[in-house]
Amino acid sequence: MEYQGDGWKDSSGAANAAYLNVKTRPGFEEDPVCGIEVKKSELKADDKGATYYFCMDSCRQRFLKSPDSFLAPTPQQKSM
Ligand SMILES: [Zn+2]
Repeated sequence: MEYQGDGWKDSSGAANAAYLNVKTRPGFEEDPVCGIEVKKSELKADDKGATYYFCMDSCRQRFLKSPDSFLAPTPQQKSM
């Protein structure tokens, strides 16, 4: 058996991408289901005192089924 001395290779990916650091514009809210910017409208839902807006009713229905799965904090990676 022959050891191939390559070891672990870094997969050059977008692991450190900062694309999540997006701020919504005034008058807009972030759809927690699909993450896009939506205008405040009747497509909204209240959860724990906060109001969320949705791009379409199917997003709202999905949110209402399990709000926590959409509001869970993004897991932070410990290594940088
Ligand atoms: Zn949506």
